[in-house]
Amino acid sequence: MTAELKQQTVVVSTIDEIRKLTDAFRGETLGLVPTMGYLHDGHMNLIKQSLNKCDHTVVSIFINPRQFSPSEDLDIYPNNLSRDIEKLESIGVDVLFYPNRDTIYPEGFKTNIQVDGITQHLCGKSRPELFKGVATVVLKLFNIVRPQHAFFGEKDWQQLAVIETMTRDLNIDVHIHRVPLIREPDGLAMSSRNSNLSPEERKKALSLSRSLNDSKEKVNRGITSSKQLRQNIKNIIAAEPGTQIDYISICDPISLEEKEEVKGRTLIALAVKIGPARLIDNCIIGD
Ligand code: AMP
Repeated sequence: MTAELKQQTVVVSTIDEIRKLTDAFRGETLGLVPTMGYLHDGHMNLIKQSLNKCDHTVVSIFINPRQFSPSEDLDIYPNNLSRDIEKLESIGVDVLFYPNRDTIYPEGFKTNIQVDGITQHLCGKSRPELFKGVATVVLKLFNIVRPQHAFFGEKDWQQLAVIETMTRDLNIDVHIHRVPLIREPDGLAMSSRNSNLSPEERKKALSLSRSLNDSKEKVNRGITSSKQLRQNIKNIIAAEPGTQIDYISICDPISLEEKEEVKGRTLIALAVKIGPARLIDNCIIGD
């Protein structure tokens, strides 16, 4: 991108400032892309969808403490604001909303959004705080920024399902756009957390996408037993010493209920701890 195409991204941290800016966009379409920063091409793809669809785009960067349990990686979550701003300017994002924790959760904050059912599966089992924290912060961001459109990645399949359910159940007037998962050239699902992996751990992390590709091939060859497919994924990942599987789910992509057989559209989703990072990946098989 040439320097001429760069536009300055306005960075605001308070609710008053962001409201003033988005008030000025009234009558035009506004897209919101919520992130936790340390932007990579997966994020940039979401942002491009918003830039294409909407007159204005607000990207938010907020490392949401309420979606981490005390034992999780909040303290080592990567960040680099100046690098992120450069990336946003290079593609012409209007506004970065970069609130601090007290702005989002002032003293006395007492409300949580709980989506039932789908949060009992996959990541919800081992990260009990995660989706309450996600739903609460996303609803807050919707109310603060007041976009007509919001963009989320299928990398976090369950998170998208939670946000879609919340938006539908609470009649929130925001159109949720699903954006496909973006991978590195070698297959690793892009994630800010990848930067916390050593080169050796990163190699081990390739076992996630390898096991998903292998499952796709097995299904194409007629193997549809979830038990057999799950065991196969386990074997591929466990062959890498130091990996710790949290879950392997073969489930319905909407209800997230486990399936015994791969019949029709099926989600395979994984979470694996490697060194300091807990990585997730998924793929859809079937029509
Ligand atoms: P995060 O900063 O990890 O909380 O992610 C912010 C948004 O970017 C979420 O909607 C994620 O699903 C999305 N995202 C993160 N990584 C990817 C990826 N590799 N491909 C597509 N979307 C992604």
